[in-house]
Amino acid sequence: MSIEVALVGNPNSGKTSLFNALTGANQYVGNWPGVTVEKKSGNLKKHPAIHIQDLPGIYSLSPYTPEEMVAREYLIHERPDVVLNIVDATNLERNLYLTTQLLDLGMPVVVCLNMMDVVKKEGKTINLDKLSYGLGVPVIPMSVVKNQGLERVSKLLTNQETFTIPEPCEYDPRLEAALNEIEDVLHFDFTMKNQRWYALKYFEREALASSELGLTTQQTKEIEELIQLTEKIFAEESETILVNERYEFITQLIALSVVTVDSFQYSLSDKIDRIVTNRWLALPIFALVMWFIYYLAIQTIGTMGTDWINDTFFGSWVPETVGSWLQAAQVADWMQQLILNGIIAGVGAVLGFLPQLMVLFLCLSFLEDCGYMARIAFVMDRLFRKFGLSGKSFIPMLIATGCGVPGVMASRTIENEQDRRLTIMITTFMPCSAKLPIIALIAGAFFPHSSWVAPSAYFLGMSAIILSGIALKKTRLFAGETAPFIMELPMYHFPQLQTILRQTYDRCKSFVKKAGTIIFVSSIAVWFLSSYNFRGQSVAETHSILAGLGRIIAPVFHPLGWGNWQGAVATITGLVAKENVIGTFGILFGNREVSENGQEIWQVLRGTYTPVAAYSFLAFNLLCAPCFAAIGAIHREMGSKKWTWIAIGYQCGLAYLVSFIIYQIGHVVFEGGTLSIMTYLAGFVLIALVYGIIKKPMAQKESVVSLSLEGER
Ligand code: GDP
Repeated sequence: MSIEVALVGNPNSGKTSLFNALTGANQYVGNWPGVTVEKKSGNLKKHPAIHIQDLPGIYSLSPYTPEEMVAREYLIHERPDVVLNIVDATNLERNLYLTTQLLDLGMPVVVCLNMMDVVKKEGKTINLDKLSYGLGVPVIPMSVVKNQGLERVSKLLTNQETFTIPEPCEYDPRLEAALNEIEDVLHFDFTMKNQRWYALKYFEREALASSELGLTTQQTKEIEELIQLTEKIFAEESETILVNERYEFITQLIALSVVTVDSFQYSLSDKIDRIVTNRWLALPIFALVMWFIYYLAIQTIGTMGTDWINDTFFGSWVPETVGSWLQAAQVADWMQQLILNGIIAGVGAVLGFLPQLMVLFLCLSFLEDCGYMARIAFVMDRLFRKFGLSGKSFIPMLIATGCGVPGVMASRTIENEQDRRLTIMITTFMPCSAKLPIIALIAGAFFPHSSWVAPSAYFLGMSAIILSGIALKKTRLFAGETAPFIMELPMYHFPQLQTILRQTYDRCKSFVKKAGTIIFVSSIAVWFLSSYNFRGQSVAETHSILAGLGRIIAPVFHPLGWGNWQGAVATITGLVAKENVIGTFGILFGNREVSENGQEIWQVLRGTYTPVAAYSFLAFNLLCAPCFAAIGAIHREMGSKKWTWIAIGYQCGLAYLVSFIIYQIGHVVFEGGTLSIMTYLAGFVLIALVYGIIKKPMAQKESVVSLSLEGER
């Protein structure tokens, strides 16, 4: 017989960790709420008949967020045999709220009291017997990270012990009486199994508007009257009564079972937070941290590995070895050229950046898992809110530092439609892993001695996001109220090495995989197009098909300072995958003669562009429309062609204007270029952009309409 187990708990209660420990499946373990939006399931280790369904992390069973809806639907309609409720023991007050709601469902609940190691460290004791007695269900103490308590859960599930179905929690007797009456009303030809829960939901008025229950008008009327009567007795709204009752119950329960030795002492986490989330220090500290990480990854430690791969590995070992094999095997000349100057030059140029990426991913995973990134989302919320944006938008952006696709998808957690669209539109400004090689190449080739160039790309992306948000929020398309953002700050802790390595490995793996597939194919295409003319004759690059096509597009980029055919082609191939920008440069600039070391491409590049033009190229490729995969994600999440085009248009338009300003003004200021009409035009564009940011917001007509509609619902 198979058993269905549902895993339910608050975000950050350790649900993912428990799920992994029980099922042995490997998943990403992060630190901010919202990671577990998707449903995941698995079987208990060594017990295939016990099926565990992981539900999204939620704070309550109300139907307001997509996560709550998924969990609620599943619990009511699938009716699992056991509900494993994971509770963060360091935060009982908040976690037990959901527990009271689960108990009201009338299903067998087992409470897994997690983070007991932290409770112990804080000098608290929890009387488990009393807690279990108060809740009327088994309570298992555990620490997933210390591997404690897991055995008992497995045993409980496999022994198929009979679970006691909890009696309803003891709320106020007057409320109890009212609920009974509601139940009586509902009894008329009412076939749902858990009337009590529905009665409670009625009391919370959520279900009244829905036809979910198929009640007669008479029944609905009777219930309404009853609710009004109870509200009169309590002199409060029904929802408030119920929430108060729940918290009252929880407070009593905690007073009964938790003993705190030292009740008032700032924990280390609190002390760190006082500095790290300080109103004035938070952002400078964040800037410093990110600068340090980028500097470390792209300009110091990571570079050593990349230099070796570029100069030695792909610079001489691979081409020489493969070259001599090909010679020995007497492979046709064009094939040799394709392999050496096409595939190895293209794929190698991309793979060369792997060490830098590894260092960056390691650092970012560390920041995420130790709890720092959650603080940044909190700090950003404070900042974003000032400009009418929600801090919730920041989470997709954090995720987008790995890859824009999941970043765009993470915007699903934003309830407000306008904010969600806005976030989708600006999330991919963040430098993702594929854009990193572009940053590293430009920083290495043009600015080898400045530590600010690589981090500046990160801040350019961030600024584009924040300033776009501010400016767009003032337009008619996006004006409106922002969604509230509730976020808890998990305790700081030293991350598990395994989690960090796993995450870094996963991210690097997908990078390498892309090099082996999409970049591989693109490199072949670029090589063919750059080696042959339209008549199929082998020609020098400058006469190739690619050069011909590139020259048609290049004038568009001329005002940005890099309007030659190579730059244009690299940018276009970058739409397939951003790594292609580097792969294409590798083929177009790298194979003039078999390069002895990877730095040769730097010299050729330096001879082609000025540093300001190179930075303008970097800015354009950072901000313009993302790769096809991310555009696909944008299309899916926007759910409309029109909005997808608006997003692409905005991204490319902004990229163009920013690069235009950078080149036209930068060229005059830093490279002694002459003032021209273009410089003035750039100045004008700059002023226009600044105006878009600082102008007064639109009168928010639409938001009033949507608010009043919400009121009616
Ligand atoms: P979820 O959001 O509920 O899925 O929670 P996660 O499984 O991602 O855990 C959140 C954080 O708490 C992670 O950094 C875990 O390493 C950490 N964590 C999970 N269980 C424990 C525990 O028992 N003790 C301690 N100290 N940390 C834990």
